[in-house]
This record gives sequence, C-alpha cells and structure tokens, in this order.
Amino acid sequence: MDSSTRHILPGDEVDSASHQENLHYYLVEHRRWKKKTLQARCLIGLMTLICCILIVVLIVTYESGRRKSRSTRESSKREGQGTAGDVNLIKFIHLSDIHYDPFYNKMISSSSYCRQQVANSTAKYIAEYGRIGCDSPAMLVENSLDAMKNVSQEEDIAFILMTGDLSAHQMWTSYAGPQRVLDNIATVSKQMHSRFPNIPIFPMIGNNDLPGHYVLPKAGDDWYQKVLSSWESLIICSECPGSVKKPTTQAILQESFLEGGYYNASIADGKVVLLVLNSLYWSVAVKRSVETDQKASKQLVWLENQLKLVKSRGQKAMLASHIPAGIDTFDSKPYWFNNYTEIYVRLVTKNYSDVVIGQFFAHSHKDDFRLQMFEPETSITAKSFVLLAPAISPVYHNNPAFRLVSLDTDQLSLADYTQYYMDLVMATQFSNPVWQVDYTFSKKYPSKNTLVNAERIYELNEQLINQTSDTFWNGYAFSRETNYQPMSYNRFTLYCGMRFVDFPNFQKCTQKYSVPGG
Ligand SMILES: [Zn+2]
Repeated sequence: MDSSTRHILPGDEVDSASHQENLHYYLVEHRRWKKKTLQARCLIGLMTLICCILIVVLIVTYESGRRKSRSTRESSKREGQGTAGDVNLIKFIHLSDIHYDPFYNKMISSSSYCRQQVANSTAKYIAEYGRIGCDSPAMLVENSLDAMKNVSQEEDIAFILMTGDLSAHQMWTSYAGPQRVLDNIATVSKQMHSRFPNIPIFPMIGNNDLPGHYVLPKAGDDWYQKVLSSWESLIICSECPGSVKKPTTQAILQESFLEGGYYNASIADGKVVLLVLNSLYWSVAVKRSVETDQKASKQLVWLENQLKLVKSRGQKAMLASHIPAGIDTFDSKPYWFNNYTEIYVRLVTKNYSDVVIGQFFAHSHKDDFRLQMFEPETSITAKSFVLLAPAISPVYHNNPAFRLVSLDTDQLSLADYTQYYMDLVMATQFSNPVWQVDYTFSKKYPSKNTLVNAERIYELNEQLINQTSDTFWNGYAFSRETNYQPMSYNRFTLYCGMRFVDFPNFQKCTQKYSVPGG
C-alpha cells in the first residue's frame, strides 16, 4: 500500500512518526486543493470577464451599425438618394396614346392607313393585333388592357395615368367626325373601367381627343361635358370600395374640367397632389384666338395657385398632360409657345422645384425623358425633369408599350419604373401576342443615385455624348421606339432636345454640335 492510500482508523496504533507523516500529507493535500480551487475560480472569473467583454463589444458593434445605417438613410434623404429595399412604395401604371381606331382593317396595308379599301391597298399579310404604321384595332386595345390587368394582379396598383390620345388619328374625314371621337373616348374608357373598377383612373385630353385635330372647344361647346360623362366615374372612382379615398370631387371636376379640361386629384394617401393639365392651350399647333389665349393664361394661374397650396400644406405635386414643354426632336420645333414655356418652366424649376416630384407626358410616342432648366451652365440645382411614355398605338414605327412606375412615399420621390412591351412582328407572325418586360429603369441606367429625379436625368443626359463609351447611347437610341427598328436620327439633336427646354438654347446647342448623324 503506498502513502497516498493510507488512512488512519479508530483504534489504530499510531506512533508519533506516522502521525507527523499523516499531518504532512493532509497539509500537502489541503494546499493542493486550495491551489486548484483558486485556479478554477480564476478561470471562471477570466471566462466571465471575456464573456462580458464579448457582450459589450457585440452591443457596441450593433448600436454603431444601427446608428450608421440610420445616418446613411438620413443623409441619403438629404442628398435625394435612397434604397428601394427599405422604403414604402406605391405603384401606378402610366399608359398613353392608345389611338383606338374602329375602322382598322387587318387586311389593309399601312399605305392606306389600314382603313378604306382602295386600289392596291391589300396588305401582304394579315395583321390582327395591329400593324406598324397604323393606329390600334380593338384587338390591340383589349390585349394591352388585359396585359395591364395581369401586371396589376401581380403588383398592387394604386391608380392609372392615361396621358391622352384615346382616339385614333384622322377622325375628321368624311366618314368619321367629332361624334366618332367621343364614341372612341367612351369605348376606351368603358374598357378601362371594366378592368380596373377598384382604382382611380386619371385620363387626359390629347390632340386627337378634340372636336377637330388640335381644335379646342369654343365657348358654348359642351365638348368637355361630353368627355367628362365618359371620365367622371373613372376619376372619382365611383365603384371603388369604401377603403379607397376619393381622389377628387364632382365639384372640382365641374369647375376646372368644364373650364378647360384640367383638374386636380389627391393620391398617395393625400401626400401627393396630381395636377392634370390640358397642355393643348399652350401648343403651337393650336390656332390662336383671344379665347384660347385667355384660357391658356388662366390655366397657368390655376397651376401656380395649386402649387402654392400644395407647398403650404407640405405636400408634393405630380404634373401630367399630353404634350410636353420643350422641343419636338422629329422636326426640331418647340411644342409650346415660348411665353408659356417660360412661365411653366420657371414654376417647376425655380419657385416650386422642391414641390414637383415628377412630370408625366407623352405625345411623341417615344420612350424618352427630358431635362428642364434655363441656365444649364450656372445652375444645376434649379432644374426639373419629364418622363415621356411610349404609345400603345404602333403608328409611329414603334412597338406597343406601357409602364409600371413606383413612387417612394417616405422620400416622396419617384423610385423606379418597369416598361412592358409587345413585339408586334412576332405577335403577328405567330398569332400570339406576348407582353414582356422591356427593361427596368434602375437596371438599364444604373447610378449611385437610386431615385428617378432631375439629378439622375441630368446625369443620363451627360452620358448621351460620351466618346469613351457608347453603351448608354446605344441602349437609349434602341429603346426610343420600344425595340422596333430605330429610324434615322441625329444624335446631337436628341442630346440638345433632352437638355434644353427652351427653343433659343436648343438652337444654340444644335449649332454647336454641327456634324450630322449619330
Ligand atoms: Zn398620339
């Protein structure tokens, strides 16, 4: 038996030497146990300390991360930038230029405008869904609206903007006339209403939705009353469920729409006011009279008063109409009279540039965007921008298209848009119309600035003339006709038209860039 296993038992005969030995043994054991206990306590203490330090480090890291992300969000807001991932968005559809033609004949060629049968007008192929160079048959109108309905079933759509020209071109010939224009407006409006009875639809007057082409109704003409009878239930959203706030009132429509075909409506839970304008009053294509001049000025006064009211209430405004201010790059002529352009652009770029968050126009049938600023060399902060929607009608050498736009209701800014289109040649060839995503703005035109605002459009305009990369230019030029073969164009005309809203500056710009082509 070794010493480590020796025990003293009662009755044992213990001599003094062995007693000393036992005592020594106990003392050594006791010291060893005490040392081990101390070591264990030290270890536990050390581990506790490490745990505490780790917890403190984690808390500090988490808090600083939170503070950093909050300050990034706040500085993004200040700089007009933001991320789509952590914001509230509402979505709406922007469509334009349906140009419904009840006389469309699928057997007739575009040289006869797909209408009356004259000698040699029979087409080489049947075009059921529409033909490039002609306005929209019923089949295309219905198919387009069905495509929008499909998109609306995947996305929560809050409202729809319809920026004019519901009726086809050339309706004032011997076999048609003003009543046919009203009938076309009524047909398209009914089609829209039947597909979207639960959301407001905001239609606008185009140059083909009048008693004559670019002919505004004269005093005593009940044209606006007749149009409103087709549109009132859409705008007021008469069949909307009680949960949908009424965007405007019958009284507002009676007052301003009957006066000149314009109106205001509340959107985005009252955070934004939509100002629907009738820009025909400012158009150079309309024959001037004392009456049109008076109404043109009156509408601008109404616009300024509305913007003042919107600003005083801390709201934002979205402006929409058919013909935009600026230059028609097709013939290098201004769309509006210069005096009206000046007043309008001063309102949106100077006095109320912080109020106007987006302008939605169309008319050119091109997928496009425009910058609005008077002094590009000195003042890049005082500027605004316009989004131009492509058309449903394929009449101007384009595929039918529409957009799904998103509005950031936290930052109160446009966030993005996705464009959908139908390849008309493929639809005709395979008797199967297929709508697909054309592109999403943020992906096609990537930028540090993730909002769609004036700075972003300024940045894109800068890239139109870039000698080291044509990527942006090629994408833009091909998109203009919504993926149909691009017609000939002058690169510098498109650049100057996008950059300058006023005619004198546009002219100076085109003279500076004098080499033709693109
Ligand atoms: Zn049009």
